[in-house]
Amino acid sequence: MVNDKKNWSLFNEGSNEFQIMNEIQRAKIILKILNKTYPTIKVPLKSRNVFTLLISVLLSAQCTDVNVNNVTKKIYPKYYKPKHFVKLGQKKIEKLIKKIGIFRIKAKSIYSLSKILIGKHGNKVPNTFEELEKLPGVGHKTASVVMSQGFGHPAFAIDTHIHRLAQRWGLTSGKNVIQTEKDLKRLFPKKSWNKLHLQIIYYGREYCKARDCYGLTCKICSTCYPNRKKPVKTKKA
Ligand code: SF4
Repeated sequence: MVNDKKNWSLFNEGSNEFQIMNEIQRAKIILKILNKTYPTIKVPLKSRNVFTLLISVLLSAQCTDVNVNNVTKKIYPKYYKPKHFVKLGQKKIEKLIKKIGIFRIKAKSIYSLSKILIGKHGNKVPNTFEELEKLPGVGHKTASVVMSQGFGHPAFAIDTHIHRLAQRWGLTSGKNVIQTEKDLKRLFPKKSWNKLHLQIIYYGREYCKARDCYGLTCKICSTCYPNRKKPVKTKKA
C-alpha cells in the first residue's frame, strides 16, 4: 500500500531507476508539507457572524480578500443582520460596496437574500448546501466556504487557484472545478478538507502564482517531481 514508507522512495534500490509517484503518494506528501508550512491558518475574510461571512464570501467573487475586508470593515460594525440590509435597500447597499467589482449585481443579491433569510429561514443562514445554493448569488463554491468556515462542516471549496495547484501537482485530470473537487475529496482525508482548502490558497499566493511556476524551486514539486525541468503550464478551469 502507498502508506508503506518504502514505496515513497524515488529510486528503485539497486537499479537507480526513477519511480514515478502515484497521486495518492503525492497527496500524502503535499499534506505533510502544507501542515508543516502552515500549521495554523487564519480565515482571510473578516466577518462577525455566519451572515456576514456569507456576505463577505459573496463579495469576494472576482475581488481580492483584502479589498473585501477594506470595504466590510466600514459596514459590519453597523450592519450585520439580514434586517439591516433589507432596511438599507438595494441602492444604499450599492453605495456601500461600490469599490468592489460587479457591485450592482452583488448588492441585488445581498438585498434579495437578506429578505429570503428573514421570510424563510427565521433570520438565520441555513446550514445545508441545498438551501444555501437556492439563495441569490450563492453558488456551490460560496456555499462550501460557508458550510466549512461558518458551520465547521467538511467541505472543499474549489476556486480557480485551488484548481490550478491541483493540476500542477498532478492531483486531478484538470477538466473542470467539479472534477477537481471530486478528485481532492477522494485523495485527502475528510478531516483535513477545511484547513487544507485554506492551506492550498495560502501556498498558491505565496509560491505558486497564476502566472508564475518556478518549476524547480518549490518544496512540493521538488519532492514530488524531482525530474521536472520546466515550469508547469495550467489548463483553463
Ligand atoms: S514548482 Fe511550480 S507548480 Fe510546483 S509548487 Fe512551485 S510554483 Fe507551483
